[in-house]
Amino acid sequence: MNDDPLHSTSPMPADIPQVRLALITGSANWGLAFPEDIGMTGVSVLERDRVFDTPWGPSENWKLLEFSGEVTPDGQPHRALCMYSHGNPRNEIDHACHRRAFWVLQEAGVKQVLASSTMGAVNKAIQPGDLAIAADIIELTQTPYSLLPGRQRFDASGKAIICAECAAVLAETAREVWPTHCRIHGIEQGLVAAHSYGPRLTTPAEAIAFRSMGADLINHSLAPEATLSREIGACFVPLAFVTAGFNDYMNRDRGTLLQEDVLPSLSRIASELALLTVLRLLDRRSCACQTLRSPQPAERYDRH
Ligand SMILES: [Zn+2]
Repeated sequence: MNDDPLHSTSPMPADIPQVRLALITGSANWGLAFPEDIGMTGVSVLERDRVFDTPWGPSENWKLLEFSGEVTPDGQPHRALCMYSHGNPRNEIDHACHRRAFWVLQEAGVKQVLASSTMGAVNKAIQPGDLAIAADIIELTQTPYSLLPGRQRFDASGKAIICAECAAVLAETAREVWPTHCRIHGIEQGLVAAHSYGPRLTTPAEAIAFRSMGADLINHSLAPEATLSREIGACFVPLAFVTAGFNDYMNRDRGTLLQEDVLPSLSRIASELALLTVLRLLDRRSCACQTLRSPQPAERYDRH
């Protein structure tokens, strides 16, 4: 283990595979074994139930996937790490799980992260069933689980925290598979996702508060995932669809929030969309995400 767990200078832990892609699954995939239940040609699970040690304890529920050369853009096999985010470990609430997971992704050398989840909408124009690719986040609680090495060694920009290039690939792919009666809101719409850790769902008063701060959407996971992706220098794109609309939040006469029929009908399509999108992300173009975590001059942390 490194002397400074946040600043890895020793050789990579031997058991963490070196991969470019990471898939994080969550509520969007509930009820499915991902990717096994999708049965997509060319996608196989090399390992499952892997546990990796991190400076903050074990990170569980990892799978190592392989995309065969028959489905990849360059005709070569590619591997990806996949982790179930919601409830990791499975039977306790642990908001620090994202930091352990992204430490693993950092050590794996991951460059692109696609995270699937579901959201509530506090913008009345966004309806249950819509796929909404946020352009920005509100995460007022980001600091406790930061992965940035040192205190002043790096500057992590809050700009362009969702990768516009990956978002364009996701939207383009979604237009081929997402149900036509639902809409796809691309990153160009500038939607904002607010973060609430959960697991309790948002109250009507909290929904109004987030809306007043400028949020269009509310989510339990994508904001810390976006922040940690920035901190490890990786692109991040959220694949998230809406399971509750503004009126669902406001109706205090109904005890539940989520529209229960939305998730089962879309979880399989969202899972298929995740796989199709990461395959296309292998056909890498150019973006600036990796430069938005920038080393600072030595005098900023050496002199005090
Ligand atoms: Zn990017």
